[in-house]
Amino acid sequence: ATPMALLAGTGRASQLGILIKGPQILEDTRHVDTILLDKTGTVTTGRLAVTGITAFGRRTEAEVLALAGAVEAGSEHPIAKAVVEAARAAGPLPQLTDFHSAPGGGVRGTAVPGGGTPLALAAGRTGWLEANGIVPAAEERAAFARQQGGGATAIWLALDGETAGILSLRDTVKDGSAAAVKRLKELDLRPVLPTGDNAAAAARVAAEVGIAAQDVYADVLPEDKVAAVRQLQDAGRTVAMVGDGVNDAAAQAQADLGIAMGSGTGVAIEAADITVMGSDLGQVVQAIELSRRTLGTIK
Ligand code: ADP
Ligand code: MG
Repeated sequence: ATPMALLAGTGRASQLGILIKGPQILEDTRHVDTILLDKTGTVTTGRLAVTGITAFGRRTEAEVLALAGAVEAGSEHPIAKAVVEAARAAGPLPQLTDFHSAPGGGVRGTAVPGGGTPLALAAGRTGWLEANGIVPAAEERAAFARQQGGGATAIWLALDGETAGILSLRDTVKDGSAAAVKRLKELDLRPVLPTGDNAAAAARVAAEVGIAAQDVYADVLPEDKVAAVRQLQDAGRTVAMVGDGVNDAAAQAQADLGIAMGSGTGVAIEAADITVMGSDLGQVVQAIELSRRTLGTIK
């Protein structure tokens, strides 16, 4: 395509709410044959709801929710937003200090509930909890597995280094995601679903939108998303990575084409070659169609 055509293509894209870093990006887009779609917030709404709470020992469900809300208040993760919303609806949150966030793992901090003695809080996935020296008992793991049944996402709450409870959450697939995946396949792009979430939750979403079971990569840490991109590239694929979060930025940078959904953070947009301003996966398809049309490879 001529430089003029490419420039016209990027101009047309911006009218559609699609920001393309430079005309060269359109050329890159043409070679992409594999498209990684981050699950939470990209394929799904990312608006989760708390659907279950389990309290261990002398803890109550109300305490588990309030303390999880306190430690999640500093996080922007969709899980955190859901927990905070549910906790706030039940009452005021304990104050938190020393907040730390481990992307793809969990969050921790210190609370002083009711002005009593400080309490170390941690909320997150199993592997991250264990890496912090907190190992759930067998019956607690069984409860965790039950709560994740049917495709929910469960997280642990730990207090002073001991497991205190479990919260489970559910997410819904965005309206346009199944149609977008169908169109991607028609464009000869192989959709792949990498996610830090558990296998059952990932499989449920994949089945709903039409992504093949063997193209689901579950329990993937942010740094492993980079490795997944590299592996596909080593296998000769040209890879696009679509994500909405800061935890997707490194994989987007590694990919041949990084695509950010506009609802995500500034960091992810920095790493992206293409940014779609809306939250519909259909806009990603539009971006690809537009570039191919600009290059005259489809009508
Ligand atoms: P995804 O790839 O689906 O966007 P992430 O990589 O952000 O997911 O997170 C992966 C997993 O890490 C989550 O499913 C959850 O178990 C845990 N996690 C991440 N952030 C938090 C948080 N703020 N609170 C609790 N758990 C978290
Ligand atoms: Mg995400």
